[in-house]
Amino acid sequence: MIRALVLPYYRLLRSLPKTDPSLRQWRTRCRHCGLFFLTYFRNAWRTDLYCPFGCREAHRKAASIKRSTAYYQSREGKIKKQALNRQRSLVSPSPTPPPLPREPIPWPRDTVEYVRAVISQIEGRPFTLPEILTLLARIVRQHRIARRRRRDQIVAWLNEFPP
Ligand SMILES: [Zn+2]
Repeated sequence: MIRALVLPYYRLLRSLPKTDPSLRQWRTRCRHCGLFFLTYFRNAWRTDLYCPFGCREAHRKAASIKRSTAYYQSREGKIKKQALNRQRSLVSPSPTPPPLPREPIPWPRDTVEYVRAVISQIEGRPFTLPEILTLLARIVRQHRIARRRRRDQIVAWLNEFPP
């Protein structure tokens, strides 16, 4: 499944410099999984970037856990944690409203934002998030239909020529 998606993606990525030579400078590689992706040209020389297909988010989470663990193990962090725990036991839950939830979308946000940036660059105009979501939904639907057609053809062929 991944392979089926990665190959057309690479073909498209390779064809991009032909349509717009400046895009060649935007290509970089994920330091974790090695996939190529486009980034802001000022960042393209960097070798410490993570791709927007999951590695970036995983790295961000791991770094955040590491940071907070390190902080709470420091002297300053331990004092702060004690104070927080004391406060929690004295005061009833605070009435501060939770942060506004971002509208859920069916794909990882990093990936959608990446697609949005690349398509905006290729098309030469900024695309909105709803536009990209509509576009992605249409592509996924077409992909599913094509897959179903292929499966139906194989089943029909097997019915005609049983093994
Ligand atoms: Zn990656």
